[in-house]
Amino acid sequence: MLEKPTVMMTDSEAAIRALAPTYAPRSLTLVKGVGSRVWDEKGNSYLDFTGGVAVNSLGHCPPVLQKVLTEQSRRLMHVSNLFHSHEQNQMAAALVDRIGPGVVFFCNSGAEANEAMIKLARRVGTESGKTEIISARNSFHGRTLAGISATGQDKVKAGFDPLLPGFRHVPFNDLSAVEATISEKTGAILIEGIQGEGGIIAAEPEYLIGLRKLTTRHGLLLLWDGVQCGGYRCGTFQSYTRLLEDLQTVEAAAFLPDAIAMAKSMGAGFPIGATWITEPLRDVLGPGTHGSTYGGNPLACAVALAVLEEIETNHWQDHIRKMGDELKFSLQQRESETGIKAVRGCGGLIGMEVHGDLSRWREQLMKHGLLLAPAGQNTLRWLPPLNVDPDDIRKSLEILDSVLENAP
Ligand SMILES: *Cc1c(COP(=O)(O)O)cnc(C)c1O
Repeated sequence: MLEKPTVMMTDSEAAIRALAPTYAPRSLTLVKGVGSRVWDEKGNSYLDFTGGVAVNSLGHCPPVLQKVLTEQSRRLMHVSNLFHSHEQNQMAAALVDRIGPGVVFFCNSGAEANEAMIKLARRVGTESGKTEIISARNSFHGRTLAGISATGQDKVKAGFDPLLPGFRHVPFNDLSAVEATISEKTGAILIEGIQGEGGIIAAEPEYLIGLRKLTTRHGLLLLWDGVQCGGYRCGTFQSYTRLLEDLQTVEAAAFLPDAIAMAKSMGAGFPIGATWITEPLRDVLGPGTHGSTYGGNPLACAVALAVLEEIETNHWQDHIRKMGDELKFSLQQRESETGIKAVRGCGGLIGMEVHGDLSRWREQLMKHGLLLAPAGQNTLRWLPPLNVDPDDIRKSLEILDSVLENAP
């Protein structure tokens, strides 16, 4: 007798053996997604607040992206940077409109967006010997060699020596530590507005104002890694606007880094990254100094433009601000008497620090139908789409409560 066909399982086991084991073993194979919901190959459904790690800002398979992908794929997908495309020009202009006067380099990921900022800083400082970059401990800037060299976490660097030289790391939110580390070799300071992978830790407003003053006084570049906290995830296009809004000072309103790295939410699931560079530095990366074959292709830029339009016409940035703040409040109410230690972040970037083993928490939540992403040693990230259904937030809290009843 023939055995029952097990094509699906056999295929996936063989396929799994073919994957480089760079990621922690994964417990689910997902086959379908709609909004905040995903389905695995066995037909189980889950509320997905991992959001593709802060990428799926409009949820899974949003109709607006289905439409633009289909239409643009009929017109023009990729031409390389030997040519202009309307979509790339329009997307560059859209970023300049929302950030400030400057120029945009397009790439395909967050690590590459940071790489361009690092190259910018090196090129600015190379003649004067001001090539060192100060970045923060506990930061994360991507997995390329420059990215891990900039990153302030030993675990991502282990075994990859020799790293790119020229990085100094200081404690985050400590202005005097930065001041004490600045030397005649320093060329730039690189920070995340909200440390994402490090556990959702926001820069203090006074720290940001202090950094801007310090960098201006010493003639240093202020490089902003907005890969995770940008793209309206925190309620404003870039997170510094939100982080600084309570100060209500002229300095806060005028705050602008010299370069900004973007990716993740930008394409809402389609790969695209970008580096905005302030106007006075527009010519630093001139012809032949940098490039990317795919970077900013018409398909990616058409998607990114549609994402901006969808968010802004529906005011999803205001929606996620409200939803996220309510979620944060609800989680804070559950603090202390449960296994929840602290709740941080804003909008669609909320970190819940917990007691006990992170993978046990994630496993328990998954069993009850909720997917959350890990961050740092002991933090779970809630990364709902910006257009999250309030009902899904309510359901996620119900799931959390059933898990808290027998805290992992
Ligand atoms: C995710 C992330 C990166 C790296 O982005 P990739 O697209 O994975 O290369 C860089 N910086 C920050 C702050 C990130 O969160």
